[in-house]
Amino acid sequence: MQEGLLLIISGPSGVGKGTVCRHLMTIKEGLNLSVSTTTRLPRPEEVDGKEYFFTEPVHFKAMVDAGAFLEWAVVHGHYYGTSLDVVDEAISKGKTLILEIDVQGAAQVRQKAPESVSIFLAPPSMETLEDRIRGRGTETNEKIERRLMTARQEMNSYILYDYVVVNDKVEKAATKIGAIIDAEKCKVSRGAQPPGMGGEDG
Ligand code: 5GP
Repeated sequence: MQEGLLLIISGPSGVGKGTVCRHLMTIKEGLNLSVSTTTRLPRPEEVDGKEYFFTEPVHFKAMVDAGAFLEWAVVHGHYYGTSLDVVDEAISKGKTLILEIDVQGAAQVRQKAPESVSIFLAPPSMETLEDRIRGRGTETNEKIERRLMTARQEMNSYILYDYVVVNDKVEKAATKIGAIIDAEKCKVSRGAQPPGMGGEDG
């Protein structure tokens, strides 16, 4: 059986990873979005086990010590991690699993799972990214400045990824990612085979 596809979608803070991933899920069948574990509080519309597994810092740290995460990072002051169980379960069943994670986490996954495919979602320009970060509204100037600085640093890591997709329009970016998934599934080096040769492509 063909192994599953582990797809990292990452990029700077504020680029719109979540929006693009949610749109991608609506236009392409057969994708699974990984549910991360986090210590941040749930937003009003969020449900435990759906958007995230919400947990206490002490429990998160115990999971880190037990080696339960493929990757984890501190993002905007909260812990976020991808549990190995979630990844193993999907990949062993031949599924396509999407990790929507920050650039620190992406670097860890690339190292620990070199067969993964990584996509850097980039803003159309630095000005757009800055507008988006400032536009979030509710935060203090100091926090916004810190986010801008982090985002500028995160932009430099694009060179380490397999693909770069510019998020000028959500629909266009999601369609391009869908095309990358199709191409990756056809790759001979990923184990795709013509009919009658024992392979099954889905
Ligand atoms: P939010 O709290 O707004 O849903 O996500 C904040 C940031 O955390 C986003 O950049 C998102 O990509 C990142 N993130 C979400 N889950 C994970 C994870 O499991 N690992 C890492 N490294 N980053 C994550």
